[in-house]
Amino acid sequence: MKDLSKNYINGEWINWSGDTLDVFEGATGDVIAKVPASDRATMEKAIEAADAAFESWSESTVEQRVKVLQQLQAGLKARAPEIAEAVSREVGMPIKLSGMIQAGLPIAVTGTYIDMLPDYPFSEQSGNSEVQYAPVGVVGCITPWNYPLHQVILKVAPAIAAGCTIVLKPSEVSPQSAFILAEILDGTDLPKGVFNMVCGLGGEVGDTMLKHPLVRMISFTGSTRTGHLIAHAAADDFKRIALEMGGKSASVILPDADLEAAVKGSFMNCLQNSGQTCTALTRMLVPADKHDQACEIAGAVANGVKLGNPLDENTRLGPLASAEQRDKVVDYIKLGIAEGATLVAGGPDAPEGLEKGYFVKPTVFGNVDPDSRIAQEEIFGPVVCIIPYQTEEEAIRIANGTLYGLSGAVWAGDKEKAKKVASKLRTGQVFVNGGAFNPLAPFGGFGHSGIGREFGKWGLEEFLEVRSLQL
Ligand code: NAD
Repeated sequence: MKDLSKNYINGEWINWSGDTLDVFEGATGDVIAKVPASDRATMEKAIEAADAAFESWSESTVEQRVKVLQQLQAGLKARAPEIAEAVSREVGMPIKLSGMIQAGLPIAVTGTYIDMLPDYPFSEQSGNSEVQYAPVGVVGCITPWNYPLHQVILKVAPAIAAGCTIVLKPSEVSPQSAFILAEILDGTDLPKGVFNMVCGLGGEVGDTMLKHPLVRMISFTGSTRTGHLIAHAAADDFKRIALEMGGKSASVILPDADLEAAVKGSFMNCLQNSGQTCTALTRMLVPADKHDQACEIAGAVANGVKLGNPLDENTRLGPLASAEQRDKVVDYIKLGIAEGATLVAGGPDAPEGLEKGYFVKPTVFGNVDPDSRIAQEEIFGPVVCIIPYQTEEEAIRIANGTLYGLSGAVWAGDKEKAKKVASKLRTGQVFVNGGAFNPLAPFGGFGHSGIGREFGKWGLEEFLEVRSLQL
């Protein structure tokens, strides 16, 4: 068990002797670490340190910022195996995938800012004006548990690049990789106070950030429920907000698509990280006359996938991150049955031999009513809803028929046709015929899925204010 009873403030590790929070291993339910349940005063110290560091860091050169990001990237590479294992244990992602995504994506994202920064136009001419892009100030970063380091890096790397100073409150469910990040940053040339980290509960230290006048921006990733609280609190003193929240993304399979490839591609996307992915394609829209065949294909995938400890190289599907999350998903599976959807595969009982830990069977529902709760609400587990449609117009209407709009997919034999349908989806990104993920493309949501964009230049611009000098 790791004792991580400390916070990182003003370039120093400050020991914490108050209450702690347990961190659990998804596969076993064992406590694997303890982190501070910090108090408001500790968060206030971190915010004051970030504020004191702002003036100087906001005037740092591009070369200084690039150097720090290069040192950060080197540290992330050196500690990648450790990061992958910590996140696998906490969140449940199979270790190989965790190496590629949970440890690999932060390296790649940091690289995009290293490459972008030297040529980024921090000032430009518009008529008789010089338009300048200035760092927004002290940024409070609040992050979730499902891709813990990735969500942190998507904020910390561009905020450093923009010249902002930072206070991070990582998720209390999966905080270990944030400690590794703080250790890495401690070894770089980043001046003290530019990056600070305080661990604790959202309602306590997160809330302190929301109400503190020195914090000029809140960059949040997490549930829509918490996003509401943040948007309201931030309004009180007009903090800038960037919100990345939940989703209920649709995969629209058109009649001329390769059904097998589309169903398998969509369902495997839904199962990634045990369904604990904000962009998961959790609603599969299929032509009514292909519904039964789609259920058969998805059912075979569900019944064939190897569940187990994520540290075992043969495991394809690990557990969920917490008992609370497991119970929530199981309740949704029971609700789906009660709502009258057809249970094609999986179900609410724990998988055989995996009663310990937080495992849930990959579950396929067929004939799902698009207005039912399982088709409208984010389940955040390995559960897919197959919804039949009659016409293309109906498919688009169903796809757009939730409060969310984070991601989506369209599959068709004809790519131009797929693009036409994709352009009608009210969602931040659409994968056409399984198009590859792009770390330079903007990422974010319509509607209740978010405000703002991360990744690429859009991610950097979240942290910049605009000033114009009339000359
Ligand atoms: P959550 O909203 O419960 O918690 C997210 C963070 O907010 C945590 O650090 C938590 O401590 C903090 N928090 C909670 N209450 C707070 C309060 N009152 N004030 C300030 N901070 C508070 O979300 P979660 O369960 O950790 O993560 C899962 C959710 O995140 C899902 O809904 C998922 O879709 C979403 N998510 C979205 C994206 C995206 O990019 N759109 C990415 C990953 C996860």
